[in-house]
Amino acid sequence: MLESALPTPCYLIDQAKLKSNLTLLESLRARSGCKILFAQKAFSSYAFYSMIARYLDGAASCSLYEAEIAHHFFHGENHVFETAYLPEEIDQLVKLCDHITFNSPTQLARYAGQVHSNGISIGLRVNPEYLSQQTDDFDPCAPYSRLGTTLAQFPKDQIRRIDGLHVHALYEQNADALEYLVYAIVEKFGSILPRMQWLNLGGGHHITREGYRLDKLESCVEKLQRNFGLQVYFEPGEAIVWEAGYFITTVVDIIDNGMKIAILDSSAACHAPDITEVQYRPPLIGADKPNVLKHTYRLGGRSCLPEDVFGDYSFDEELQIGDRLVFKDMAINTLTKAKMYTGIPMPSVAVREMDGNCKILRTFSFADYKNRF
Ligand SMILES: *Cc1c(COP(=O)(O)O)cnc(C)c1O
Repeated sequence: MLESALPTPCYLIDQAKLKSNLTLLESLRARSGCKILFAQKAFSSYAFYSMIARYLDGAASCSLYEAEIAHHFFHGENHVFETAYLPEEIDQLVKLCDHITFNSPTQLARYAGQVHSNGISIGLRVNPEYLSQQTDDFDPCAPYSRLGTTLAQFPKDQIRRIDGLHVHALYEQNADALEYLVYAIVEKFGSILPRMQWLNLGGGHHITREGYRLDKLESCVEKLQRNFGLQVYFEPGEAIVWEAGYFITTVVDIIDNGMKIAILDSSAACHAPDITEVQYRPPLIGADKPNVLKHTYRLGGRSCLPEDVFGDYSFDEELQIGDRLVFKDMAINTLTKAKMYTGIPMPSVAVREMDGNCKILRTFSFADYKNRF
């Protein structure tokens, strides 16, 4: 069907853009010798996993459920990192994964024997104490972070059990941040690296974004390979679906309270929580920042939540009830974080296939709401 015939609200995934992101990553792997895994948490729509799997080395999971889904759809490597494993989960994970990374020396000591006897490569997540951003709440290397083992706590007595180090310290960064990170890792863990087979540099690399310095990333990989003989891994999530999703919604009312407010048939708080939680401002096709074009509107969700606002945008023409609005770059953290809080229905999920044809993959109903409770 045509995009204009899709019901709203609707998440629309663009297969052509997804493919161009994946092609870029595939050629990066081929050129540099690094391995790239798909970190699932930004985009867990497994309808696209078999496509993603064709271009990458495998998947990276953060939980048993992610590992199970990845095992089903990816035939390459399956890595898992959990902040703490439960004993019954480890029994499952040794059947699903080929790399298991521990967060602490205690977890390593507790499970390494069982994991090793299943022929699985063992990693330890380390904290290089390198801060890449200002917002401490979201930085895994901020003071008192629970994520990763610091050099002071590194279990030297267990080093023979560890095959690789895992570091995840970046968020939406270019390759200059990666250079500093690698510098920090080498400074702290330089004496340990020669004894490792691999180094996983985590996610947060916006590799597919325009202007990303691929040359810098490649020279980091090359140095780590040459100086330490390491297999380098990256596990980006956002970069895989960067700009590959749209969110289509319809204006259902227009009111005035000191400014024009358009009410949409969707909800920022429920359908794209990054907007209300971390002040993400999605680009909107045909619109600009407030007061740039002639007519400025606050775009509000239709839930009862006061904070349910997409943002203020300006338009050339006045908005009308029934107008369709299309937000861009809405594949990341939307469907995975969406909720039916206050009983607001979930948007449909659709794909625009390579030939431009659109197809609905999933719709939700009252049963989905009721089943959760
Ligand atoms: C979130 C996360 C990723 C992926 O990060 P992106 O920002 O989506 O690239 C990779 N590894 C770990 C351990 C993570 O927590």
